[in-house]
Amino acid sequence: MTMNYDADVAIVGYGPTGVTAALTLARHGISAVAFERDRDIYSRARAVTVNDWTMRIFQDLGIDERIDKVIDPQRALRWMTYDRTEIMRIEHPPSTLGRTPRFYNIYQPTMEAELRAAVQEGYGDLVTVHYGDEVTGIEQDADGVTIASTADGAPRTTRVRYAIGADGGSSATRGRIGCTLLGDTDDVTWVVVDCHVKRWWPDRDFLSFWSDRERPVVDIALSAGNHRWEIPLKPDETPADYPTSAEIWPLLKALGVSEDDVEIHQHAFYQHHVRMADTFRRGRVFLAGDAAHLMPPWAGAGMQTGMRDAHDLGWKLAKVLKGELPESWLDTYEAERRPSAAFYTGLAVGLGRVIKQEVSEEEQAAMNAVPENTVTPFEPPLTAPPVLAGGWMRGETGDASVVGRMVPQPIAGDTAGRMARLDEHLGHHFVLLGDDVDPATLLSAEEKAGWDALGAHYRAVRPKTSHTQGPDELVDPDEVVLPWMRRYGARVIAVRPDRFVAAAARLRTAAASGTPAAPVRDLIGRDDVEAAYAVQQRLASERIAAGATVVGRKIGLTSPAVQQQLGVDRPDFGFLFDDMEYAEGSAVPFDAVLQPRVEAEIAFVLGADLAEGPLDDAQVRAAVSYAVAAIEICGSRVAGWDIGFGDTVADNASAGGYVLGTRRVPLTDFDPVAAEMTMTIDGETVSTGSGGACLGDPVNAVVWLARQARALGEPLRAGQVVLSGALGPMRPVTPGAAVHATVTGLGTVSVAFSS
Ligand SMILES: Cc1cc2nc3c(=O)[nH]c(=O)nc-3n(C[C@H](O)[C@H](O)[C@H](O)COP(=O)(O)OP(=O)(O)OC[C@H]3O[C@@H](n4cnc5c(N)ncnc54)[C@H](O)[C@@H]3O)c2cc1C
Repeated sequence: MTMNYDADVAIVGYGPTGVTAALTLARHGISAVAFERDRDIYSRARAVTVNDWTMRIFQDLGIDERIDKVIDPQRALRWMTYDRTEIMRIEHPPSTLGRTPRFYNIYQPTMEAELRAAVQEGYGDLVTVHYGDEVTGIEQDADGVTIASTADGAPRTTRVRYAIGADGGSSATRGRIGCTLLGDTDDVTWVVVDCHVKRWWPDRDFLSFWSDRERPVVDIALSAGNHRWEIPLKPDETPADYPTSAEIWPLLKALGVSEDDVEIHQHAFYQHHVRMADTFRRGRVFLAGDAAHLMPPWAGAGMQTGMRDAHDLGWKLAKVLKGELPESWLDTYEAERRPSAAFYTGLAVGLGRVIKQEVSEEEQAAMNAVPENTVTPFEPPLTAPPVLAGGWMRGETGDASVVGRMVPQPIAGDTAGRMARLDEHLGHHFVLLGDDVDPATLLSAEEKAGWDALGAHYRAVRPKTSHTQGPDELVDPDEVVLPWMRRYGARVIAVRPDRFVAAAARLRTAAASGTPAAPVRDLIGRDDVEAAYAVQQRLASERIAAGATVVGRKIGLTSPAVQQQLGVDRPDFGFLFDDMEYAEGSAVPFDAVLQPRVEAEIAFVLGADLAEGPLDDAQVRAAVSYAVAAIEICGSRVAGWDIGFGDTVADNASAGGYVLGTRRVPLTDFDPVAAEMTMTIDGETVSTGSGGACLGDPVNAVVWLARQARALGEPLRAGQVVLSGALGPMRPVTPGAAVHATVTGLGTVSVAFSS
């Protein structure tokens, strides 16, 4: 995979974001090279917590048990005044995400050391880390990214496919790719005091916020025997007033902490930022972590947001690099991560106002108010399970919807009786889970093909009172997943590799019911031509396997107006099968084609293969045996014809059926460009046009098709029919409609629909 590249991905900066990116990529078998200008881990403690979402990511990376050993459970959060009046408390209920408790206290340098060791021990063959190597330049072109760096004065050049700027708040990558950091920095300076604990004191394990206008303080137990206080300087104070621990002690003593309790081992000063990069991506270079966003520490989410960025980008990059997802998926990185970073930034700002006692009583009451009659049981936003606010998902989100939510993670069983946390059963795939049903049986063929193209697995989840019925089934013995799905009315949920639900209700539409499905473009990427044709090919193969024969092709989207409507600059094509032809003048059952529409065109029947040679105008004309007037019955399996380019290609170019006229005219006697078309429905003229409307000349359309078909390995063959594209607008039909078309030089063709 790395042929002319030194690695697949370069990571600039090996802090928590960079290491998480390396771990995620390596876990998927993708190589990475990381540059870290410092030789050692940054020694100041900084981040203080991780929660159950981050732990679930660690689980996915196979390191949760290892991290568990260097972190401590957090008891609860409380907001106090200096006279020890408690104004708010958030207890942590058991986590639904597979980890109890929800919050943990950490010591960032120890955790970073553990993360780095996990990469080195697990993926030394895939991840190269250059310590003491500072990145000095980033250039990108159509095929990759070139990184310039310097270690001890020696320059190095590294070539990769993609790069991640995880180089922290003062990221130079950001400027190098032309991004701007927007937002503000608070002018208050905080002193951060890290101590070694000498003895236990009452309630040390609370995360306490000492709320006060002048000196609000964060007081938190860190893991590995450390404790942290964060205290703001007053407007007339500067860091120069606190040169040593001696000047810090009065601040701690005001909180009742003495030399008997702790030993101060370091203190540092910092300011709070509310900042976000104007974009998280330029071409092949992405920004992640503090390089992309900076938030105040009050929600304990800065580092975690960076790690979640790295995980999100990591699995998507890996699947794109392995060809399992279209490149367009990389756009979902910012679409998903920016709202999440903004949410936690807003939360941090709000909590900071509580700590600084800036909120009015009404605001405080509003914050404490519990909304009633919600489908989702209320939890404070700080501790509630995560929800995707935007990005790659389908359907409504909101209180009553399962879409965008992270699936709970109970212990589940499989058919072989193996009990494990749900994610261990699910693997790193997209998985559709059905409530006591095989989810595949509830999908339309198009939906199934869309999920297949994403490599989805299908698993029924049986209640604990049932027998399993197949090898891939799961059981929900603790009755967590099924009641959760039922609460949202979902029979099937599609779970992404990061455990967010991408789709639900619409999957209940079954092909067998004849009900059109929702568009599939989001499943395969709106403009991912390759993926769309792959879906079309898969569906065609299924039809062929079921006994259908390919008798030709149809070309669609040949008129500039229709192309413009779908935002594309090219036609598309689909297969014609033997069961799609109706005899001239015959009656077509109205329900034979979903949402039928008709258009009139010129069909060409080939007398020779179009497999070799230049496949130019002359060759195509010579290969055409005759032209004939045709009515195409278009049908769409997408509800309301709400199609984009990907939808119609995946849906066999919306082909439904066709009728050929009886007059067969060789091209020596017929000029397709000059042909004029008139189509009537029930005697009323509904569509007119001429041959030139079809790519300038219907023969041009056949030339285009012949080349596409050969490129895709299935050239056009003698005897096949080619519907070359509409000469005028397509029109819907109603039951009982009689359609009649005339093409000058070719005569007439007609079809009627049953009522
Ligand atoms: C006092 C304080 C308290 C905090 N509390 C919390 C908290 O409770 N919870 C939380 O989640 N977050 C918290 N944070 C934030 C958290 O520490 C950061 O969000 C996190 O460290 C960011 O990780 P990162 O990997 O994106 O960036 P960094 O940790 O800054 O890592 C960036 C790395 O890039 C390297 N680098 C930079 N430029 C180059 C270059 N040109 N070439 C090579 N290497 C380069 C740097 O040396 C550095 O190692 C806190 C921060 C502070 C300061």
